[in-house]
Amino acid sequence: MQPTTEPRDAILVEKTPLETYVPPAKPSLIGLSRTELADRLGEIGVAPAQRKMRVQQLWHWLYFRGAQSFDDMTSISKGIRAELAQHFTVDRPEVVAEQISNDGTRKWLLRLPSGDNLQKAHEVECVYIPETDRGTLCVSSQVGCTLNCSFCHTGTQRLVRNLTAGEIVGQIMVARDRLNDWADREDGTRRVTNIVMMGMGEPLYNFDAVRDALLIVGDNEGIGISRRRITLSTSGVVPNIVRAGEEIGVMLAISLHAVRDELRNELVPLNRKYPIKELLQACRDYPGASNARRITFEYVMLKGVNDSLDDAKLLVKLLKGIHAKINLIPFNPWPGTAYECSDWDQIEKFSEYIFNAGYSSPVRTPRGRDILAACGQLKSETEKLSARERQALRAMAMTD
Ligand code: SAH
Ligand code: SF4
Repeated sequence: MQPTTEPRDAILVEKTPLETYVPPAKPSLIGLSRTELADRLGEIGVAPAQRKMRVQQLWHWLYFRGAQSFDDMTSISKGIRAELAQHFTVDRPEVVAEQISNDGTRKWLLRLPSGDNLQKAHEVECVYIPETDRGTLCVSSQVGCTLNCSFCHTGTQRLVRNLTAGEIVGQIMVARDRLNDWADREDGTRRVTNIVMMGMGEPLYNFDAVRDALLIVGDNEGIGISRRRITLSTSGVVPNIVRAGEEIGVMLAISLHAVRDELRNELVPLNRKYPIKELLQACRDYPGASNARRITFEYVMLKGVNDSLDDAKLLVKLLKGIHAKINLIPFNPWPGTAYECSDWDQIEKFSEYIFNAGYSSPVRTPRGRDILAACGQLKSETEKLSARERQALRAMAMTD
């Protein structure tokens, strides 16, 4: 980790690493759909005729009120509460570190059971970015990422596994817990108003869990964040893009970053499997895209690599006919990277060209840099992969 210039009190939680991880003895109900909750209730002997009503109650307590124990669920009979507590928990992922940046951004490091070796834990990060008119939570979909984009820190992480739906919903619940952001907030306002699937991992390589989690997050009898306020960002897993529109219905962001296949192959190696033309066709086919629901094209500004005015021109040409907006992201450097962020002048020129061509082209302000919480910097402690390991992972991803 980069040394932080923050005073110690900006670290609110800091636990020491575990020698041996002891996985939870009982499963958590977090992340279960209504049907799955009904099944669990059946397993503990709740009669079929009662299940629908009990599911409604549980749903309300879990996802609307954010209850942290079965004891809090006072509208559910004591007998059922005791039975539930004997078999299940309402645990979220464990917070091992919480840091607050000097700009108010918060980052949580969460501990999760490892998929295969139960003695070990995995870690994942989640970031809250407060702004004047909204609060955005940047959520992870995988531990690490198999895709190895050359400018992204997450792609260098050794451990990789898919998160479960519960671990994805659990990140939003942790944020609401830590920010005191459940339905009973005194002023009735919410802190977490928007979700972006832009943390660690490629969400469309963990399709089912991401879909199940986002359907829970968007459910208006529970967490209730509308689908228009949820954005899924993908590096371009073409076959799952239209599926995401049909089965999840959230806003779409595409990590484009280059306008020629040759360069995109290098920056986003998945491009070799799904080149720009196919990617843009999937965007044209994305259900529900309209002027009011535009697709965001993310474009990281890399000095001397993809930031010329010729690139800007070709970008505008490529996006013709797509309901698009362009989000320019200043490159966030991380220790060991060979890339540099474009000069501010150049970013402005690039942005102006796109703006004059009729596109909204906000430049994303880097947030939380002092706590390594900015885009593409998320990576847990695990050390960098060797070049050979990276190549092997890349090859694995290509054959998925
Ligand atoms: N895997 C998904 C979502 C997570 S990355 C994807 O690639 O879209 C979220 C965004 O951060 C992507 O647009 C990604 O390309 C960008 N990003 C990665 N590393 C970055 C860095 N070092 N600086 C700026 N943006 C970066
Ligand atoms: Fe994975 Fe996205 Fe990083 Fe590429 S940019 S390595 S797809 S997290």
